[in-house]
Amino acid sequence: MSKKINPVESVQKEIKFACKKLGLGESYYELLKEPERVLMVSVPVKMDDGTVKTFTGYRAQHCTIMGPAKGGFRYHPDVCLDEVKGLSMWMTFKCAVVGIPYGGSKGGITCNPSELSKGELERLTRNYLRAINTIVGPEKDIPAPDVNTNAQIMAWFMDEFSKLKGYNVPGVVTGKPIPLGGSQGRTQATGYGVTVAVKKVCEAMKIDITKTNIAIQGFGNVGSYTSLYCSQNGAKIVAIGEWDKEIGTYALYNEKGLDIQKLFDYKAKNGTIVNYPDAKRISLDDFWALDNIDILIPAAMENAINENNVKTINAKIIVEAANGPTTPEADKILSEKGIPLFPDILCNAGGVTASYFEWVQNLMNFYWTKEEVNSKLEHILIKAFDDVYNMQKTNDVSFRKAAYLVAIKRIADNMKLRGWV
Ligand code: NAD
Repeated sequence: MSKKINPVESVQKEIKFACKKLGLGESYYELLKEPERVLMVSVPVKMDDGTVKTFTGYRAQHCTIMGPAKGGFRYHPDVCLDEVKGLSMWMTFKCAVVGIPYGGSKGGITCNPSELSKGELERLTRNYLRAINTIVGPEKDIPAPDVNTNAQIMAWFMDEFSKLKGYNVPGVVTGKPIPLGGSQGRTQATGYGVTVAVKKVCEAMKIDITKTNIAIQGFGNVGSYTSLYCSQNGAKIVAIGEWDKEIGTYALYNEKGLDIQKLFDYKAKNGTIVNYPDAKRISLDDFWALDNIDILIPAAMENAINENNVKTINAKIIVEAANGPTTPEADKILSEKGIPLFPDILCNAGGVTASYFEWVQNLMNFYWTKEEVNSKLEHILIKAFDDVYNMQKTNDVSFRKAAYLVAIKRIADNMKLRGWV
């Protein structure tokens, strides 16, 4: 098993490195090393059996110099203070790397949502909002879905906030259902953005995307849309790594390329792709070690590439679609092996950028088509990629470090102008 990684410590290392490289004094690090505010709350819920159970909830806001804080909230038994703090810090840098006017935040409740009924989940969400309502709002902090939270949960959250205010406030949360002010294109946005990154990587490395073999871990929201859009751009998706409640991890492999639309249809019909017929089933270990992969895209979970599998990876390039899919140790080994890695805070920022568009539309009460959303998304992500690419070339650092340099430079410029340092 991988060692437990403290997310706060790993981000702090990146901040320290970037501050030094940018020639910023210690004061910048002091301003960025911890969240500005962390709220820990007790969330009592009347359970279906009539008893009351109290859950622990959190909301961390890291740095709000660029605008209101932005970040999801998750329901999971592992939610804890350090996780929420670390993830809020990631969000600050993800927003800054793409240049959207937000700071970073994250929230969560320590619970096992699969043990809660729909009514209990609704009461948990409404009571969580009541517990943190003074620090969230369209001008303060705008939550969104994350692990085990979804559009319905965002709808309850928005409804409860609106009731407290006495009028509709759709801009308090993003990732809402479309009838409640959700944005066209939001569901597909992260995979769409990862595909923009893949196209830019190919352009930068002078690779013809139509001649690439791609392997993707995860066929959930991000992985499925990434496979769809990459295949529509001519790439061959030869392998998809997945997890199934009966058999655990596995992968589908077809060296001629998987038909992604057929996989979507198969999943819609069967709820899983485990028995998809037009592919060979291989183990996840064999998936990581495939020797004909140009681009490997982890799009499932944290710490997927770690000290146990990193040495077997033969892919030429890694594009991170999940959050934190590579452990710091594996990151070092990949760099020693000469495998370029394009980081999560750049490549999966399509999701938060589309959330930003949802918030803008809510504030304007004026709604865009999917085509408008995608075109604005592409514009922002291409610029961010170019900024990171140029930063990497000038500083001869990894693309991850270059992304932090871009983000921290933007934040530091604001701090200086506002007289914080
Ligand atoms: P999801 O739950 O829709 O999909 C995750 C998929 O990974 C599922 O199909 C699951 O079966 C599979 N999986 C789980 N464990 C696995 C394992 N060990 N090996 C192989 N497959 C496994 O989640 P998602 O929304 O697609 O998010 C995936 C990642 O992307 C997460 O790290 C998330 O934080 C990140 N992310 C998501 C968004 C978004 O907009 N959804 C935005 C940015 C980042």
